[in-house]
Amino acid sequence: MDFQTTRRKSPRFAGLASSHLRNLRRRDFLEGAALIDGRWIAGEQRDVVVDPATGEEIADVARCGVAEINLAIAAAERAFPAWRALLPAQRGAILKSWAALMLEHSEELAILVTSEQGKPLTEARQEIAYGAGFLDWFAAEGERAYGETIPSHKLGSLLHVRMQPIGVTAAVTPWNFPVAMITRKTGAALAAGCPMIVKPAPETPLSALAVARLAEEAGVPPGVFQVVVGNPIELSTPLLRDTRVRALSFTGSTQVGRILLEGAAETVKKVSLELGGHAPFIVFDDVDLDKAVKGAMAAKFATSGQDCLAANRIYVQKEIYRPFVEAFAAAIGQLKVGHGLDPGTDIGPMTKLSVAHKCRTQIDDAVRKGARAISADEDAALGVNFILPTLLSEATEDMLVAREETFGPVAAVLPFESEEEVIARANANEMGLAGYVYTDNLRRALRVSERMECGMLGINTASFTGPPVPFGGWKQSGIGREGSRHGLAEYMELKYVCFGDLSN
Ligand code: NAD
Repeated sequence: MDFQTTRRKSPRFAGLASSHLRNLRRRDFLEGAALIDGRWIAGEQRDVVVDPATGEEIADVARCGVAEINLAIAAAERAFPAWRALLPAQRGAILKSWAALMLEHSEELAILVTSEQGKPLTEARQEIAYGAGFLDWFAAEGERAYGETIPSHKLGSLLHVRMQPIGVTAAVTPWNFPVAMITRKTGAALAAGCPMIVKPAPETPLSALAVARLAEEAGVPPGVFQVVVGNPIELSTPLLRDTRVRALSFTGSTQVGRILLEGAAETVKKVSLELGGHAPFIVFDDVDLDKAVKGAMAAKFATSGQDCLAANRIYVQKEIYRPFVEAFAAAIGQLKVGHGLDPGTDIGPMTKLSVAHKCRTQIDDAVRKGARAISADEDAALGVNFILPTLLSEATEDMLVAREETFGPVAAVLPFESEEEVIARANANEMGLAGYVYTDNLRRALRVSERMECGMLGINTASFTGPPVPFGGWKQSGIGREGSRHGLAEYMELKYVCFGDLSN
């Protein structure tokens, strides 16, 4: 398929993913059929799915086109009235059984995620639990879509504000969290009373389609949740142009986010975008070094670095710069690189060759400009999609790694002197998704947290996302929020109703 990265095959882990997939109890998870209007569509043409660690073909899936997307939009439109008419608790019960089924099939879903995405199996299992958590949480949040009554400014009038479902919604989802980025959007949309059509990334369709099987088993009615797989541009164009699709949610690169925002302008859709990040990770010299290194390891290397929350610029105060770099390098040296299905693997392959190329380009550029690269020797037998965890010390802001999102296991460490200086440097970037600050000084933590330009900030922690909190970015990192009551509001419209003339 023309939009999929071609890879050179690597013999090291040959057959590993296929042998795991052969043993899946749920054979239907591998059928690769799209779910449209309650029917499983195998498609006349098929696209291949590959194991990113080896380049081997592991499955094939339907290639849907404009005809299928139009069927899906029509089915969603038909399904909307009955779905919105259910009590929120009835919708919630269905979402809860869907979450329970995901947990029941966690191991099989995790194997699918690792086979097509590459992340270590332990992280894939965590993703399934994290993803099911959004369905579970929004199942109840739908019951709390409260409106308002407003003290009137007009004599003899009552003023109400209601929250009502927006209508048919669509989601374009990425390959780095192929399950959780679907449920985070769908949980909110369905709880709000809206049907959703999902177009997953072509690299990771299997886990999306497996989640769709479980939706059907949980009792999600035909047309309420649909998954359409195929070429991103071919499928997203009708979704953008159709007036029946009222809201679009996207997670992915800022570049594609801009294209979708522009496309959605024609029909003035409500758009929420979760785009790239470039998180600053700031370590002040008052903090316990081990704690900061542990945090930096988690913030940099989770999902093999392919995470929009990943620490991209690690700023360390001058007094502790050397000891931090030494301890960080030692911890990085312990990471095991390999196939995600191999027990003990910490860092898997990059899902896309383009991401591996970007990492190599950033490392070369940084070294050329004076950074010191610390990593294990390149192991050619691993295959082209693997990037060995690399620390770039003495990094500076003129290097690509400090300006562009890396999305891989490359850690740039930059020294700084003062609080004022580091806040200015951290904010001097068009991305504003997440940030991290390590300090044991309470007043400093409060001061810095007030001034950081980002949507999410961890103080002395690298783990802070989840269903009840708003996930999203400032500046070019996005528009809108997912998770939390704010995430539900993305799929709802406000209706203000004025009851006038009540005086007699
Ligand atoms: P991408 O933005 O191209 O892909 C994300 C989704 O958008 C996929 O479903 C893809 O099929 C779809 N898509 C791509 N081009 C499209 C188009 N023209 N019209 C409609 N849909 C389209 O991301 P990528 O190129 O796979 O990754 C590149 C970079 O994007 C990464 O290095 C990273 O910086 C960023 N990214 C961020 C996230 C995140 O969680 N915010 C996720 C994935 C990628």
